[in-house]
This record gives sequence, structure tokens and C-alpha cells, in this order.
Amino acid sequence: MSKLYSCSECRMNYRDPKIARKCREWCKKYRSCNLEIIKHAVNE
Ligand SMILES: [Zn+2]
Repeated sequence: MSKLYSCSECRMNYRDPKIARKCREWCKKYRSCNLEIIKHAVNE
């Protein structure tokens, strides 16, 4: 079982902590989702 990292702003889950952090920074700054980031999200 792999650990998932979630964005505390949009609640998307990621396998890569670096991407999760990127997402969180983006969400805080822009209040919207970046398609380039959320395409890495996993749905579990
Ligand atoms: Zn996010």
C-alpha cells in the first residue's frame, strides 16, 4: 500500500509529495486548480 499525499486546500491526493506541495502552493495563491498538477492526482 502506498502512502498518499493530499493537498490541504483542494483535497486532491497525490503519490508524489513534491506534487502535493506544488498543488497546495498553487491552490493557496490562485484559488483554482492547475490542470498540469491535478492530472497527477489519484482517486482512491
Ligand atoms: Zn490543491
